Amino acid sequence: MEAKTKDLWVFVETNGDGSAKNVGIELLTPGRMMADKQGGALVAIVIGDHVSAAVEAASTHGADQVIVVEGAEYGHYSTDAYAIALCALVEKYGPTSMLIGATNNGRDLGPRVSCRLRTGLTADCTALDIDEESGNVAWTRPAFGGNLMATILCPDHRPQIGTVRPGVFKKCEETAAKAQVIREDIHVEEKDIRTKVIELLRDMDEENVDLEGAEIIVSGGRGVGGPEGFEPVRALAKALGATVGASRAAVDSGWISHAHQVGQTGKTVGPKLYIACGISGAIQHLAGMSGSDVIVAINKDPDAPIFDVADYGVVGNLFEVLPVLTEEIQKA
Ligand code: FAD
Repeated sequence: MEAKTKDLWVFVETNGDGSAKNVGIELLTPGRMMADKQGGALVAIVIGDHVSAAVEAASTHGADQVIVVEGAEYGHYSTDAYAIALCALVEKYGPTSMLIGATNNGRDLGPRVSCRLRTGLTADCTALDIDEESGNVAWTRPAFGGNLMATILCPDHRPQIGTVRPGVFKKCEETAAKAQVIREDIHVEEKDIRTKVIELLRDMDEENVDLEGAEIIVSGGRGVGGPEGFEPVRALAKALGATVGASRAAVDSGWISHAHQVGQTGKTVGPKLYIACGISGAIQHLAGMSGSDVIVAINKDPDAPIFDVADYGVVGNLFEVLPVLTEEIQKA
């Protein structure tokens, strides 16, 4: 389809309580840059039930407009209801491009919508840019198992759609709410929603690791020496209220599950504090955590490359350093 505007859309996914998922707000940052470059508006799309918190968050993080679709049928995510609503909005307003967070729901919704609209989708992007003249988005994503970064263009179709990894972009500074809020009355009949939520069960499994949303991460690498070597890492994480991360070497050794992996073929994270314990600082690990606000490295090798990116470094044996650090934090 033809774009009717130069507007750039960001789908701001909501949590069950109607608040915005972090990634939707993060995407307003590159969205702002891209909208400004091509002279269009930055529009946040919020679909859900009782979503005033998400609308407020989008309004205070750079959106010019927020288009809201609210209704009980959107209370729980369903492919059918969300795809019907989002496609109806795109057909009405004709944006030039749309960013969607690469969450489980975003990875489901993006392909469905792009297929219905007969356009393309670039999945799992880690960098974005836009050509001012043509309005073509340059979508960059890891390819061939992370061995190279591919930049993909979708010049012949509009809207251009891409999913973007959580944690890649930082939220912009909060400002006073300035967005124009537009409410669209789109309702989906029950018979058109083929999945039903019967009950929500909280996943207490360790696999449910929210690295992307974590404010503090304590990660262990090959230097922990085995699965039991993660105990001091976990103890420090517990004292700090942090999430446990890991390098691929630790994951590949079977010491901790892949859900904890940080890096090019793991999660991209952007916490306020990242503590790397027994991690050398390979480029593929740095790709996933160098956006952290403050990096602390604990490594017995003073020449380890992790010290090149660390704000604070401790040269020492992690099995001596971590218990002392944990004890001091517990005292504080
Ligand atoms: P090592 O490089 O072996 O470093 C261990 C460090 O621990 C050393 O610096 C050592 O001095 C230190 N140490 C040892 N004992 C102690 C101790 N007692 N106290 C303190 N320090 C100690 N890696 C990732 O992490 N994430 C990815 O997503 C990822 N994706 C990849 C994708 C591709 C395509 C490829 C080719 C590689 C990828 N890698 C990834 C692997 C990456 O190249 C490195 O092999 C890996 O990050 C190394 O992990 P490490 O730092 O834990 O181990």
